[in-house]
Order: sequence, then C-alpha cells, then structure tokens
Amino acid sequence: MGAWAIVENNKPLQWIERAPLTPVGSEVVLSVTHAGVCHSDLHFWHGAYDMGGGKIMKLVDRGVQLPRAPGHEIVGRVTRLGPDAAGVKVGDLCIVYPWLGCGECAVCKAGNDNLCTKPHGIGILHDGGFGDEVSVPNARMLVLVGNIDPAFAATLACSGITVYSAIRKVQPLGADEPVVLFGAGGLGLQAISMLRALGHRNIVSVDIAADKREAALEMGASAALDGKSEGLVERIMAATGGPVKAAIDFVNIGATAAVALECLIEGGKLVLVGVGGGHIELSLAGMIFRPRTIHGTKTGNPQDLRDVAALAREGKLKPIPVTRMPKSQANEALHLLEEGKVRGRIVLVAA
Ligand SMILES: [Zn+2]
Ligand SMILES: [Zn+2]
Repeated sequence: MGAWAIVENNKPLQWIERAPLTPVGSEVVLSVTHAGVCHSDLHFWHGAYDMGGGKIMKLVDRGVQLPRAPGHEIVGRVTRLGPDAAGVKVGDLCIVYPWLGCGECAVCKAGNDNLCTKPHGIGILHDGGFGDEVSVPNARMLVLVGNIDPAFAATLACSGITVYSAIRKVQPLGADEPVVLFGAGGLGLQAISMLRALGHRNIVSVDIAADKREAALEMGASAALDGKSEGLVERIMAATGGPVKAAIDFVNIGATAAVALECLIEGGKLVLVGVGGGHIELSLAGMIFRPRTIHGTKTGNPQDLRDVAALAREGKLKPIPVTRMPKSQANEALHLLEEGKVRGRIVLVAA
C-alpha cells in the first residue's frame, strides 16, 4: 500500500510505499475511501503543540515516529479479516474509531479507549487515512456508514464525537438555556448541528471570520458574534440574556478561554476542546466567589461514535459543509486549512 506521509515536519507530505497490512487475530483491514482533514493533522505536520508559558510539546517526545500518514477521520471498506474477526464482513463501508488505547487496561475495558494512558491513535502512532489502508484491532472500532453520506460520516470520527463528548459535559441543560461556542470551524459547526439535533435552540457562536459566522448561522446558531469586537463579554451577555451555564471553546487560546470563563454564571461550566495553545491567568479566589468548572475533554469514546452515527442515520444531524478533494491534493488541503480558508471540512477522497 502507499500513503501520503509526513516525512519531515513542516515539509510537504510525500507519497511513500508501505508493506500491505496483514490482519492477525481479530484485526480488520480497510481500504480508505474518505479521510477528513482536521486541525490536529496540522499540529502533527508541524510536530509540536504550544503548551503555554513558552513551553512546547513535541510529538517525537510522545513516541511519534516519522514517516507517518496522518488522518484520523476515516471511512473505509473492509477488505481483509483476521481469522478471529467477527461483526463485519468484507465489503462493509465503515467509520473507523481512531482513538485506540491499549485495549487491556481498566479504562479501555470501561469503554473509554480515548482516555487510555497508552494511546495507539490511528493517524498518529499508526498510519492513518492519508494512506490507502488502515487496520483496527477488532470490529468494535467500526461503525457501519449505512445511509450517511460517507464524506460527512468520516468527520464524525473526530469532530463528531469530540463535540458530542463536550456537549455531554455541559449537561443537564434546558433546550432554551444558552450555550456559547468559541470557533466556527469544523468543530464549531459540528457542535451547532449536534446541539440542534439534541433539541437545543439557544446557541451563540463567536468567531473572528465573517464567512465562518455566516456558516454558523446557516447551521442553526441563534446569533454569531465577531470575536474581535470591543466589549466581547458584554456583547455575549446581550445575546444570551446574561451569564451562561455552558460555554465550549473550540479555539482554546488564552484570549478565547479568558472571555469564555467571564461569561459563566455561578456553577457554569467551560469545556476546553481546541489545542490553540497558550494559557490564562486565573483568579483563585475568583473561583470561590463565583464558582465555575473548567473541564478538559479529549475526543470521545466508541459509544459516542455509535451515538452520533445513529443521530446522523436518523437524519437528525445536519451535515456540516464538506469540500471533497482528491487524496493526491493532501498538501494543498493542509495549506488551505492553515490559511483558515476551509468552510466546515475538507475530506480527501481516494482515487
Ligand atoms: Zn481531529
Ligand atoms: Zn488502555
């Protein structure tokens, strides 16, 4: 098989040849048909995360070896089964759950593979959807695409479950109680769609780009505010009718998280999702006089993927805008995302 791989950080991806995958035990091999391009792929390409306070986390220090094909929003067709594989058959079109753990520990056994301390993520520690083929340890990591548009279905594996898991963390929340979302890129739009599917009607989206605010309104946001405007906290309060119980930050840089925290009412929750980087100053006594919760979240678990796929199959989830590009244009796709020119998601399609 071949793959568009990161050979050197910040250098163009290269087409490399890899040995074909041979499934053993319960493993299932799929031929990739669709691969979403996520902001995490950009971070992977650059090879580092801004951890705030001048600290940088390098992916090589986390065990990531190059060359590696990125891509963790994958739809593929089952091509080969290990001798003990069960639950899918050759030819099935499936969404791949990419956030693999060790599969052995109590966290994995409880179904929270994404929180395992020994991650084996597809598209990070194994070649991902920018390659021709991927392998999963067992069919529990696969969800049938069914009647979902496969390009949109691919986005459910990261942005879909990430927003679903973040929304779970601000519940319980009434249908008309406001939620403030920072960022209207792939995740922010997916969150609007998901909140609407779950019955929420009061959704305020904040973004610095006019076209993304427009997309947020089209997805069903009640209001879309310019993140660069003066007195942003007051403007958010005016749109929501006062401090809110729920804010989700898909950008997660110092500027957005600080504003989000200021928007919360006593007992409110801020969920941090993005990996924009940086840090905030936190008044510790302020957290006592106005108690609030800051909740980190990392992707979602396999059950989240089954849940969001079910919402999509039932037609409750409005698909985010998707731009299909041939996989051979993987480099162009990364550049477009970096330049902030992507509305919704780019999905790479196999030739
Ligand atoms: Zn992602
Ligand atoms: Zn584990």
